[in-house]
Amino acid sequence: MNAASNSSSKFRRTALQVADAQQLILPRVPRAAVETVNLIEAQGRILAEKVIAPHPYPHFRRSGMDGFALRSEDTKGASSEEMVWLEVVDEIPCGSLPSVVLKPGMVARIMTGAKVPDEADAVVMLEMTETRESGGTFIGLKREIEAGKNVTPVGQELAQGELILDHGRAISAGEISVLATFGIANVQVAVKPRVAIFSTGSELLRVDEPLQDGKIRNSNTYTLAAQVRAAGAEPFMLEAIEDDLVLAKGRVEQALAEYDFVITTGGVSVGDFDIMADLVREDGVELLFNKIAMRPGSVTTAAVKNGKLLFALSGNPGACFVGFELFVRPAIQTMMGSVTPYLTSFEAILGSDYNKVNNFTRFVRGRTEIQEGKVYVYPAALDESSVMITIKDSDCLIVIPPTTNGVTAGESVQVLKLSGTPA
Ligand code: AMP
Ligand code: MG
Repeated sequence: MNAASNSSSKFRRTALQVADAQQLILPRVPRAAVETVNLIEAQGRILAEKVIAPHPYPHFRRSGMDGFALRSEDTKGASSEEMVWLEVVDEIPCGSLPSVVLKPGMVARIMTGAKVPDEADAVVMLEMTETRESGGTFIGLKREIEAGKNVTPVGQELAQGELILDHGRAISAGEISVLATFGIANVQVAVKPRVAIFSTGSELLRVDEPLQDGKIRNSNTYTLAAQVRAAGAEPFMLEAIEDDLVLAKGRVEQALAEYDFVITTGGVSVGDFDIMADLVREDGVELLFNKIAMRPGSVTTAAVKNGKLLFALSGNPGACFVGFELFVRPAIQTMMGSVTPYLTSFEAILGSDYNKVNNFTRFVRGRTEIQEGKVYVYPAALDESSVMITIKDSDCLIVIPPTTNGVTAGESVQVLKLSGTPA
């Protein structure tokens, strides 16, 4: 294949804005199948069912304290001068039921979390009472106890039939807590999308190979696999492809048939060996975009073949990382039904001047710092698209809009939060 014959079309590219490119991808994302997993396996997954409270919570009136369950009217008039004495007639440990009906003047010793007798309307803390033995056990109170004190009513947290969690909700510790509470031992989640990853480039060595002059180790495949996993999907690291269009075409086509998404890195620029730039222009491939008005990663490309999405990211490690976060992660999340597929965005104060000017929006790797209750973001010292080393020190992408003067410390900027962990 004579790559040069295609090169003129490779130069003619129309740059899309990031948001417009993201919008082109979404309708092409299929919906994942649903599977049932054990609750503890559900962490990091996306809920594929609506969970309604099968019972109120709590489902019985629960004591919030270690103390005595009583009838509040019995404590009327209690003071340090005139203590009220009530007889202890029952003991209710956690998990047990009251065994005596409380008549006026009677109380039950009760533990935190135990069921409050129906006749009682309050619990007094153990520490607020004195005890006296005289033909039975009595407790003395120096204060009135108001109705409802230390009693958690039925349904305080959730009523029966209330929506607990909706479709598309990412499951972490809080969701697992509520599901376990309601006895949902198995939960329906989206099947993890299977994502094929190819690096391309004749310069690439495997990570276990010794260095050779002029060659570099293939780090992008590993970075992408980690990002795929953090996005909640299952990565498949396929053998890197040399800069050979025919070879790439065969391998990518096979992967498109087998996996939900295919990601490639490298070969999307306009050089003679930029095989992916050529591949997305072949017959039968629907090109969604091959230029984005952003840095790094302006060559970020997406295409559809046989209904499957192909993301051809830049080979430059920084650009590859950013391209994944902006375009591939949302696709994975959308396939799983997430209602929040994009990186969370917030406003922060730029901590140091950013002087690079550009007519494209920049997504600058950065780190957040909280100072005196305010959120500052500091751009990484090195953020060229080829730079790999600062990815590890970044917890956000600082959005620098096109500017002719740069942005000065103290100005307000939009920031995208990087999570790095499943959902
Ligand atoms: P390309 O987009 O193919 O022009 O690649 C741009 C540069 O990114 C190359 O010159 C390499 O230095 C680097 N690169 C490409 N692929 C990888 C990879 N898989 N891992 C690490 N660096 C890469
Ligand atoms: Mg290359």
